[in-house]
Amino acid sequence: MKNTELLGKRLVKALEAVVRVDGNRTDAVQLHEPRFGGNESKYLEECLQSTFVSSVGPFVNRFERDLTEYTGSAYAVALVNGTSALHLALLLAGVQAHDEVLVPALTFVATANAVTYCGATPHFVDSEGQTLGMDARVLRSYLASTTDQLDGRCINRRTGRVIRAMLPMHTFGHPCDVEALIAVANEFAICVVEDAAESLGSTVGGRHTGTFGKLGTLSFNGNKTITTGGGGAILCNELELYKRAKHLSTTAKIPHAWSFEHDEIGFNYRMPNLNAALGCAQLEQLPSFLAAKRELFVAYADALRDTPEVTLVSERQGCQSNYWLHTLLLAPEYAHKRDEILNECHQAGIMCRPAWQLIHRLPMYLTAPQAPLTQSESLAARIINIPSSPWLADKSKS
Ligand SMILES: *Cc1c(COP(=O)(O)O)cnc(C)c1O
Repeated sequence: MKNTELLGKRLVKALEAVVRVDGNRTDAVQLHEPRFGGNESKYLEECLQSTFVSSVGPFVNRFERDLTEYTGSAYAVALVNGTSALHLALLLAGVQAHDEVLVPALTFVATANAVTYCGATPHFVDSEGQTLGMDARVLRSYLASTTDQLDGRCINRRTGRVIRAMLPMHTFGHPCDVEALIAVANEFAICVVEDAAESLGSTVGGRHTGTFGKLGTLSFNGNKTITTGGGGAILCNELELYKRAKHLSTTAKIPHAWSFEHDEIGFNYRMPNLNAALGCAQLEQLPSFLAAKRELFVAYADALRDTPEVTLVSERQGCQSNYWLHTLLLAPEYAHKRDEILNECHQAGIMCRPAWQLIHRLPMYLTAPQAPLTQSESLAARIINIPSSPWLADKSKS
């Protein structure tokens, strides 16, 4: 009993051994901070000089090219943020009003909101404990017992609506079992859009996350592994999808030297050149950020060796995690200690946080369809994200 009461204090000590090695830093250690130590200022200055600060310009083209090279995706379209990327990707996947889209309950709210923007309804499904991502095995038996196939479409027997797509998400950068999920999707005639907002740099069998589904999306928000201030991208391998993504995100304007004509209702979703300039510089540093995050993982694993009450979430075999947010999982019998631990950490200036409130519990989604969510409930009660900025692993803390 004594030992469990001290769990918070012991955890703080273990974390401090990693994040405060120089001993005299007393300022709060943030969960994830951006760093601009490369060509950011140079490229931004170049961008200003060129006067091309909005959504056309050489940095946008270069950023898209760099993204395709890095991810191995045939095409990339840079957009204003990850949420708009999800919205557009779902439309391109054929999601229509009154459809349903399978979404993990354990994700950031944007994943579900993007479905709602299409006039469709998120249908919440469970996650599994190792990857924290959608559980393919559980999903398969759920779909087998609750849906019918009609004219090559998957129909939710209870609501009568079409389940058009699924949105697996790579939680905190840890790759989910996207290949197993795609096999289930194919079996039930469901389209896969991957929410890879958190997993730039994460791979499955050497292949980049976000390139497995029909479309994938990335986010470059300020708290993500690299940032463009605000930004996102769509990844896809089909030329037709790429052209549609570009057209729809550019107000559906028909390319012409001076004429302004639009052939459908499009969106103003293109990433400005100014943000892309930042992105090009950040992407150059991604390999070093990833290496440092990996070092940080090793340091945390070492520091937590004598704390069996928590597990440090690690990459699945055959996968590489970008370790965007390092994740502690409390053993079930210590779940009730979570808030106490979070308080201890905050008092010690170590900014840790719990998982998001599960989306099916948010007021606007209380009536959305949902599968049994036992594992999601259990995980959400036990997850603690710990400081994950790459330079925390650097002993000199430059
Ligand atoms: C960050 C994030 C998004 C949205 O990205 P923004 O760029 O903030 O719009 C979507 N899904 C997940 C899982 C995210 O973590």
